[in-house]
Amino acid sequence: MERIVFGPVPSRRFGQSLGINNIFSPKRCSYSCIYCQIGRTLIYEIERKEFYKVEDIKKQVKEVIENLKGKKIDYISFVPDGEPTLDINLGKEIEILKEFGIKIAVITNSSLIWRKDVRDDLKKADCVSLKIDAVSVAIWKKINRPNKKINLESILEGIQIFSEEFKGQLLTETLFIKDINDSKEEIEKIGEFIKKIEPEIAYIGYPTRPPAEKWVKIPEKEKIDFAYIVFKSKNLNVKIIEKKEEREFGFTGDLVEDILSIVSVHPMSEKEIKKFVKDNRGSFDLVKSLIDRGEIVEVEYMGEKYYRRNLNKWKNMM
Ligand code: SF4
Repeated sequence: MERIVFGPVPSRRFGQSLGINNIFSPKRCSYSCIYCQIGRTLIYEIERKEFYKVEDIKKQVKEVIENLKGKKIDYISFVPDGEPTLDINLGKEIEILKEFGIKIAVITNSSLIWRKDVRDDLKKADCVSLKIDAVSVAIWKKINRPNKKINLESILEGIQIFSEEFKGQLLTETLFIKDINDSKEEIEKIGEFIKKIEPEIAYIGYPTRPPAEKWVKIPEKEKIDFAYIVFKSKNLNVKIIEKKEEREFGFTGDLVEDILSIVSVHPMSEKEIKKFVKDNRGSFDLVKSLIDRGEIVEVEYMGEKYYRRNLNKWKNMM
């Protein structure tokens, strides 16, 4: 069976987070964000469907938790290499995974939140993080490159309804990209919209890992500071997502499977992957062999090397 559970991975928002990749690879999403750290979307999807059996996900989570032998897990997070709400079993999975007594988080791009069934599923989680990168249609199309059948107006309306109904911890995440969504006008409009939904924390940031498009640039520091001030002026609890220097990843007993499942969702820096193989009695030759087999690729970003899943391998097979 395909590896569905990965980590735990240190997360800026969720501490030690055991990740659930509940969507079939290769990357399926309703968006193809220009900054996506996984790469360009290979399969655009907007219809919900079953990917894995709920019981299979539970079985894998149980095995991983047992293998971790008491190691701390702060959250079980639905953070696939795509959009988690595409999974029609999401609500059932959240309910069944709650049996482990660990908080459940879902990180969604919000694109399907106009659907009542999606909102009902998300309401079962302890924490939901909503992506809000733009509130103007032209900018939303540029940054998130949505599937043509979805529209921003319904998404924003769905977000508002959800924020009124949801009893758990609501977070928002806005990534700023130079010359795309970092104008004073758009920052002001995004802040005004987020103010209405009253999240516990409004995260803002910029890409800290290699983006899907090489031409994507991070905004000047003044722009991020400006966004921070604007959000603050709207009484938002705003936090800037800073780059973590080095993250430690959980080992579940199979180095190759662990690397592949982690880099499918979170590209690892050279330092991180070297430390991970060394700590788990492997050698860097293993990483080189995965590159030679075309399983992973090496990419450079801001002077650092990163390793991520090779989406071209699938593309060539499609
Ligand atoms: S960043 Fe998230 S929403 Fe955007 S393309 Fe990547 S997986 Fe989809």
